Amino acid sequence: MIPAVFDYIAPRTIQEALRALADNGDDAKLLAGGHSLLPLMKLRLANPKLVIDVRKIPGLNEIRQEKDSLVIGAMATHYQIESSSLLKKSCPLLCETARAIGDVQVRNLGTIGGSLAHADPAADWPAAMLALGAEFKITGTKAERVVQSGDFFLGPMTTALEPTEILTEIYVPVAPRRSGAVYLKLPQQASGFAIVGVAASIRLNAKGVCEEIGLGITGLTDRPFRAREVENSLRGKKLNAKLIESAAAKITDGIDPLEDLHAAADYRAHLARIYTARAIQAAARRARVG
Ligand SMILES: Cc1cc2nc3c(=O)[nH]c(=O)nc-3n(C[C@H](O)[C@H](O)[C@H](O)COP(=O)(O)OP(=O)(O)OC[C@H]3O[C@@H](n4cnc5c(N)ncnc54)[C@H](O)[C@@H]3O)c2cc1C
Repeated sequence: MIPAVFDYIAPRTIQEALRALADNGDDAKLLAGGHSLLPLMKLRLANPKLVIDVRKIPGLNEIRQEKDSLVIGAMATHYQIESSSLLKKSCPLLCETARAIGDVQVRNLGTIGGSLAHADPAADWPAAMLALGAEFKITGTKAERVVQSGDFFLGPMTTALEPTEILTEIYVPVAPRRSGAVYLKLPQQASGFAIVGVAASIRLNAKGVCEEIGLGITGLTDRPFRAREVENSLRGKKLNAKLIESAAAKITDGIDPLEDLHAAADYRAHLARIYTARAIQAAARRARVG
């Protein structure tokens, strides 16, 4: 449980961090909260020659509103998000998702950017990001780009980030009136990671018709995904229990559910159908009073 020898730097600017990444390529790893990277290093599953600690770069953990977007710095810790008064008012789903992560120690150090970049197939943030239609600002030495959450998660522990880029900000659209969102998961008892987790975000019109819906699923398969087929079965319709249940049943169509020591594939598929229906119902209830 002792990592291999590595060099360590703690740059004070993003440009310095980017330069170090560019100079060292795959031999370098950014350190954010360290709650995924350090266990991997101790198990020698990751052996970076250089660890670039980005915690001393000012401004990377701010949470603010800019026009119709909530902007969350990638270095914001889970606890900062859980306890943000701006987010409690404008997007309680983010606070609820943060609260569902691990334990107090994990939430005190772990960051949203580290979690998204690490892309564990059972992590909680990706589900919320997908449901809310979040976008990610990615900074490289030469340019910045913005990637849709739906295009970010490419596979297990694999994202659209290049090894020389840093995820710097997350943009979440401010929800209009009659919107509601919820995140539900069955946690694995030891760590809190999702055996299956479903985030649902719904906007209703004045007549109670579902105008917009986003569903983000985690834990079910090798990567988090947006459940477009289920969304399409509900968009433009007045939601009722029967309709929701039959739409939720499609969540496993074309999916190869994970099977591991925590849950058999059949059980995960069953959980996914149940949690999808429950999350849609709960989000719709919130939207009716939102
Ligand atoms: C006991 C335990 C329980 C946990 N339970 C849960 C849980 O219930 N749900 C859950 O979702 N997660 C859980 N986690 C994971 C936790 O949320 C981690 O904090 C998170 O996965 C990684 O965030 P970090 O800031 O610690 O990143 P680090 O470990 O520092 O980094 C992770 C990876 O991302 C890269 N990286 C970090 N920041 C950036 C960036 N800004 N741009 C580009 N690359 C970057 C690093 O180089 C590294 O490869 C748990 C972890 C532990 C140890």
